[in-house]
Amino acid sequence: MPDDSIPSTKTQGFATRLSHAGRAGTHVHGFVNPPVHRGSTVLFPNCEARREGAKHRFEQYMTYGTQGGPTHYAFEDVIAEIEGGTHCLVVGTGLAAVAVPLLAYLKTGDHCLMPDSAYGPARNICDGLLKGWGIETTYYDPTVNEAAAAALIRPNTKVFYTESPGSHTFEVQDIPAIARVAHARGVKVLMDNTWGIHHFMPFQHGVDVSIQALTKYVGGHSDVLLGSVTVNDEADWRAVRGTSSLLGQYASPDDVWLALRGVRTMAVRLKRQEASGLEVARWLEGRPEVKQVMHPALPGHPQHAIWKRDFTGACSLFGVVFQPRYAMEDVMRLIDSLALFGIGASWGGFESLAIPTTGFITRSAGTGAFGGPMARLHIGLEEPADLIADLEQALATLPR
Ligand SMILES: *Cc1c(COP(=O)(O)O)cnc(C)c1O
Repeated sequence: MPDDSIPSTKTQGFATRLSHAGRAGTHVHGFVNPPVHRGSTVLFPNCEARREGAKHRFEQYMTYGTQGGPTHYAFEDVIAEIEGGTHCLVVGTGLAAVAVPLLAYLKTGDHCLMPDSAYGPARNICDGLLKGWGIETTYYDPTVNEAAAAALIRPNTKVFYTESPGSHTFEVQDIPAIARVAHARGVKVLMDNTWGIHHFMPFQHGVDVSIQALTKYVGGHSDVLLGSVTVNDEADWRAVRGTSSLLGQYASPDDVWLALRGVRTMAVRLKRQEASGLEVARWLEGRPEVKQVMHPALPGHPQHAIWKRDFTGACSLFGVVFQPRYAMEDVMRLIDSLALFGIGASWGGFESLAIPTTGFITRSAGTGAFGGPMARLHIGLEEPADLIADLEQALATLPR
C-alpha cells in the first residue's frame, strides 16, 4: 500500500503531526485528502475470504459499512495521534462517545462515580438509563483530593468518570491522583477530555478511556456533530469497540470527511483562540461588575496549580460570575445586548458564543454556590478588541 505522506513521529510538534497524521495508506492517488467513501455492502471475492474477514472485527478492516471505511480510518488515526492513544473509535455525536464506554464497563449492581460538574446529558445517562438498569451513581465534588477520591470507591465501583475542567464551572480535577486510587482498586478511569483537546494528554495522566466531543474544536465550524472514544490498550479497545458494535453506533462518512478537513487547521485555530480567550478573560477579570472569571489558566483560578502541572495550554471556553448584586435577568439582558456573541449551545467553532448558566445547570454534591449569577463565553476567531468593545457596551446595560 503506498504511503502518501511524510510519516509522523512522536517527537515532532503538534502542528506538524496534525498536518501529516492519518495520511498513510489511504489510496488517495496523490491527492492530499482522502475522498468520502460511502458504503454499506463490502464485496468479497469468495465466501472463504468473507469468513476470514469476519475475524478482523477489532481492526481497521472493511467487512461492512458499520465497521467503517477508509475515510473513518484516516480520521480515527488523526484523533488517536492527538490523544496519544493506540485506538480511536469515531461515533455520531459527543454524547454517544460518553454513552458507549459507560455501557461498556457498567452492568446491573455496579456503582459509577460522576463529577458533580459533568456535562448535563452525561448526568442524564446515569439518572435515566443506568439507574433503570440498577446501576447506582454517586456525584462527587470534582475537586476531591487523593484521600477523598479513594474514600468514594466501593467494592462494586467499576467506573471513576472525570471531566476536567468541569462543564460550565471549570473545576480542574487531579486526574493523576484519581487514576492512582482507581487503578489500585481495579476501577476504570473515563475522562471527557473535550476542553483539554491536545492540551491534556489523557493516557500520560492515567486515563483509561478518553472521550471527545469532536463537534467542538475538531469540527471547528459549527456544522458537524461527531464524537470519539480513544483508548491505549487492546483490552479497553475490545470493550469499547465491542459495545459500540452491539449498539450499532456509526458516524456518517460525509461528517467524518468534514471533520478531517476541519482538524487540519485546528492547531492554528486553537493557538489564536487560546490567546484571544485569555485576553478577553483578563479584561473581564478587571471589571467591577465581575466577581470571578472561571478560567483555569488565570492565576486566580482555585485549581490553577493543577492546570499548570497537567495541561500545556487552554482552549477558549470559560465562565464568568457576576457580582451578587445583579439578578440572573440582568445577566440575560446583558447577553441579549451583545452584537458579536451568538446565543446558543455548543462551542469550539470559529464564532463567539454566550449563554447564561445559573438556572440552566444541575449540581447535587454541594458544589453549586458560586456567589453570583453566571454565564459561559466561547471566544471565536474575531478580533479580541472587537469582542471586548462589544462586552463593554453590554456591561453598560447592567443596573447602576
Ligand atoms: C458538547 C459536549 C458533549 C457532547 O457533544 P455533542 O456532539 O454535542 O453530543 C460532551 N461533552 C462535553 C464536555 C461537551 O461540551
